[in-house]
Amino acid sequence: MNAPDRPIPHALTIAGSDSGGGAGIQADLKTFSALGAYGMSVITALTAQNTRGVSAVHPVPPEFVHAQLDAVFSDIRIDSVKLGMLANAQIVSAVAESLQRWQPRFVVVDTVMIAKGGHALLLPDAVAGIREQLLPLASLITPNLPEAAALLDCAEAQTEDEMLCQGEALLALGAKAVLMKGGHLPGDECPDWLLVAGQEPLSFPARRIPTRHTHGTGCTLSAALAALRPQCADWAATVQHAKAWLLQAIANAERLQVGHGIGPVHH
Ligand code: PLP
Repeated sequence: MNAPDRPIPHALTIAGSDSGGGAGIQADLKTFSALGAYGMSVITALTAQNTRGVSAVHPVPPEFVHAQLDAVFSDIRIDSVKLGMLANAQIVSAVAESLQRWQPRFVVVDTVMIAKGGHALLLPDAVAGIREQLLPLASLITPNLPEAAALLDCAEAQTEDEMLCQGEALLALGAKAVLMKGGHLPGDECPDWLLVAGQEPLSFPARRIPTRHTHGTGCTLSAALAALRPQCADWAATVQHAKAWLLQAIANAERLQVGHGIGPVHH
């Protein structure tokens, strides 16, 4: 992606570790490298995890999350930040405070709540912190339909019209842009919708892919958005590029033989 005369983007992930390497920090750093960015990580939680699921979570103390954030921001130029698993309300607050202090240009908030295997990656009482402290700092948020419903405290969208209404409601809560991911819509069509404040919504049509390699796709997409945004003109171009790249990573996964459960994509 990088033209030789362009600066290499510096991308930071603030997220949880996946010992199995398919999601979280590990997926993010692989994605940053694949898309020409220099990657950094602030780890919020360790998970003991493989392709069959999460067996344990060990959150990092919020003061230590702060210490990692101060270490990277005080020394290194950071062009974009991606937020993933934040585990609890204290970590949400530590991250919000730090983003307010350091004001990075692009902040992609992946509103991670529950792993595909059903394990909670965010305590339920931390959802309010994401809504009140992080949405107003977000350049883009990337909720799937259950996450959008949790943030808005309403029923999950079943149609594209409902998706659009909920996207508008999330903009009204302060996010500058929202990528509503349609993977949970009923049926074979599962478009994503991009809503940017003050612009017409844009649809990215998609059909469900018959694959078992979906572990970490949400993490990978939001990391790709953070890596690519400094290299693209706007969010529409960034989403287009990131989604095309993710489709290829899902196709590449057919060559991987990792684990016995929901397999990861190949970055
Ligand atoms: N583990 C970590 C540390 C994550 O951050 C995430 C997603 O954000 C997941 C697991 C979720 O993985 P899955 O795609 O299987 O739901």
